[in-house]
Amino acid sequence: MLWTCRVLCPQAGPSAGGWQPLSFDGGAFHLKRTGELTRALLVLRLCGWPPLVTHGLALQAWSQRLLGSRLSGALLRASIYGQFVAGETAEEVRGCVQQLQTLCLRPLLAVPTEEEPDSAVKIGEAWYEGNLSAMLRCVDLSRGLLEAPGPTGNILMQLKMTALTSTRLCRELTSWVRRLGASWELSPERLAEAMDSGRGLQISCLNAEQNQHLQSSLSRLHRVAQHAQAQRVRLLVDAEYTSLNPALSLLVAALAERWNRPGEGGPWVWNTYQAYLKDTHERLRRDAEAADRAGLAFGVKLVRGAYLDKEREVARLQGTQDPTQPDYEATNQSYSRCLELMLAHVSHRGPMCHLMVASHNEESVQQATKRMWELGIPLDGPVCFGQLLGMCDHVSLALGQAGYAVYKSIPYGSLEEVIPYLIRRAQENRSVLRGARREQELLSQELRRRLLGRGLGGPR
Ligand SMILES: Cc1cc2nc3c(=O)[nH]c(=O)nc-3n(C[C@H](O)[C@H](O)[C@H](O)COP(=O)(O)OP(=O)(O)OC[C@H]3O[C@@H](n4cnc5c(N)ncnc54)[C@H](O)[C@@H]3O)c2cc1C
Repeated sequence: MLWTCRVLCPQAGPSAGGWQPLSFDGGAFHLKRTGELTRALLVLRLCGWPPLVTHGLALQAWSQRLLGSRLSGALLRASIYGQFVAGETAEEVRGCVQQLQTLCLRPLLAVPTEEEPDSAVKIGEAWYEGNLSAMLRCVDLSRGLLEAPGPTGNILMQLKMTALTSTRLCRELTSWVRRLGASWELSPERLAEAMDSGRGLQISCLNAEQNQHLQSSLSRLHRVAQHAQAQRVRLLVDAEYTSLNPALSLLVAALAERWNRPGEGGPWVWNTYQAYLKDTHERLRRDAEAADRAGLAFGVKLVRGAYLDKEREVARLQGTQDPTQPDYEATNQSYSRCLELMLAHVSHRGPMCHLMVASHNEESVQQATKRMWELGIPLDGPVCFGQLLGMCDHVSLALGQAGYAVYKSIPYGSLEEVIPYLIRRAQENRSVLRGARREQELLSQELRRRLLGRGLGGPR
């Protein structure tokens, strides 16, 4: 059954009569079909089972051998792939997005390509050029989805920088950024100029091969950003490991020099800030103030951070200081302070400053909605919310029903491309999957209500 958005989506606008806390009690599940709720419950239960996450790739290979690739593929499609992935073809993605739009949710497409951070295999330029084509197609697909019926608004897409430039180069650049600090040699302005002119850039601390790869990477980034801006699609660059992030931020800053200028319609290239890092609040404050001083638009995706275990393990192995917050509570406090800082900037700078509250955490979401109301930030303005497809629908649906702009991060692609990516994501987000217990309770509650035939019943 296709419900029209007019029926389900309220008009966005400041709520009259004061701020009301959102209710994350699963009430909005009545909008979902029974089959979808059942699949969500089964898959979330499965993902909360640690051996499945730890040995996911081995189990997949084993099931392929035992059942054959057709049957094991069908099982995956009916379960994990169906729950967390939009599909393989543009048509399937469009179908999934149309369904989300009827529930007042918007797409944030993500191309699941990635290089292993510690990969010993040297990947050639052809791999990055292939990823560039996939990103350009993703821009077109994101733009095309706007034509589907449903709410419009900002079109956003995720961009993984290490799909376009090597982790080796990023690690090398990171070490030089740390050593040289703010110098002309490695300044965003210099990289932006090289991006624009396409002329060979010579960074003295890099060798000829690295300089060549940097120039090719800059050209790829320039092409994606140029195409995205032409198609009115905003690029949200993912944050990764601390061994890479300073280089990624340098590249984002170079893109921002060119694409976040005043008069261009707000930020086209956003960076991601991970609240679980000890230095994030200070960095965010510095970067927001620098953008304000330079008159550049500023876009931020604020997350807690996905690579906790690996960051800690690397610090332990290298005998260096752990860059992450000491515990979950400290990460929560950091997230809350970063959120406060960014909302103050949005309220001060208006559409020149955009924020995505990318979190499934109910308290963070409540804090954001309350402060938005107190600061007079419109519901469907420069602040939006982000959750992963297939996760925490009770939070996304409640936000969408209340008129906030909510995006679901949507990977798409073939089973072979996406399953290893999903398993890696699940390993990085073990704590989130374990924490999905509340969602499971709410799903069970709604299913029980339907089975016992109580209440109004929802779409079948
Ligand atoms: C739209 C979207 C985009 C995202 N993009 C990125 C990205 O670019 N880069 C990235 O790294 N992540 C990204 N993430 C994942 C994100 O960082 C979190 O891993 C995930 O959202 C869980 O955090 P939470 O706020 O949703 O939920 P919660 O369940 O409230 O928080 C879990 C998080 O708290 C932190 N935490 C848990 N235990 C501890 C502990 N003992 N000590 C310190 N901290 C702890 C960890 O960061 C953990 O992931 C994205 C998430 C979404 C929804």
